[in-house]
Amino acid sequence: MKSVLLGVLILFTSHLLSADAKKAKAKNVSVKVSNYYVKKEEKNFTLLLEARRFGRGEAIFFRLTPKDRKWINESFKVVWMGKDVTLTKQANSFIAFFAISPDFSGGPMTLDIHSKIFFVKRGTKTYQIDLEPTKFQVIKKHTITVDHKYVTEELSPETLEFIKECKKAKEAAFASESKLQFNDRFRNPLDNIHITSRFYVRRDYNNKKGRPHGGVDFRGKIGTPIYAVQDGTVVLAQKMYYEGNFTIIDHGNKIFSFYMHQDEIKVKVGDKIRKGQMVGTVGSTGMSTGPHLHLGAKISDTLVDPLSIIALHSITEDK
Ligand SMILES: [Zn+2]
Repeated sequence: MKSVLLGVLILFTSHLLSADAKKAKAKNVSVKVSNYYVKKEEKNFTLLLEARRFGRGEAIFFRLTPKDRKWINESFKVVWMGKDVTLTKQANSFIAFFAISPDFSGGPMTLDIHSKIFFVKRGTKTYQIDLEPTKFQVIKKHTITVDHKYVTEELSPETLEFIKECKKAKEAAFASESKLQFNDRFRNPLDNIHITSRFYVRRDYNNKKGRPHGGVDFRGKIGTPIYAVQDGTVVLAQKMYYEGNFTIIDHGNKIFSFYMHQDEIKVKVGDKIRKGQMVGTVGSTGMSTGPHLHLGAKISDTLVDPLSIIALHSITEDK
């Protein structure tokens, strides 16, 4: 019993840093899964930021708790790296999700919170967060094992047309807009997690620069159930040229998860999905070298490591 309690304590109290701290340093990391927590008490609100790391390709969770429960959404304007942030009301606070682009060129990241509370002083607080360095792995290869039909230069007009249609359908799905559709943490997409390729790994074939890996690959036998990582609405569920049997789930506030190379799709566009619901099965359809699940995630049109969203603990509001 004692050891269980201690484990929980370490998990939730490590890295309680002031937002003034210039760098979230990875010291005293005794538990591998510990995230960074930045907490700041201000006159009108309390700020909480949580991230696995403040690095490229990471999701950041944001919570603003006003000192007065009467203060509403419009009492605050939040700007992350120059872009307005959509806030979602929970019982006593507002939450939001930001992304750090995997291609971000570097430098400090700014978060502005404008208070616009009537009869209370207006003002802006600016927080600066230093980027933690991230090195995405580069793998150099000299052979290519993908099916010949995906590497040939000469594709039939029908295939080219199909690729064009797939691209259009994908863009339309990712343009979906809805309100936040969940209020607790994410879960893993499979029961047994074994990662075979991490986010933004780049494979260079014959010294030609490859495209970075836009998601995470999980090992799985054909037919293994795939579960929705979060509540949401299906905005795409169809066969695609590269992605194979492909499903995109809209979780609201421009947060999406997507599932590639499925053997079977078990949902259809418009379906309301609950976290943990089976959405399909692992397969090797589309441009795939063997059975696996490719899971991707987007926040505000930016690809992030899906594992960085799944790692967030603080989405449920404390009672
Ligand atoms: Zn993949």
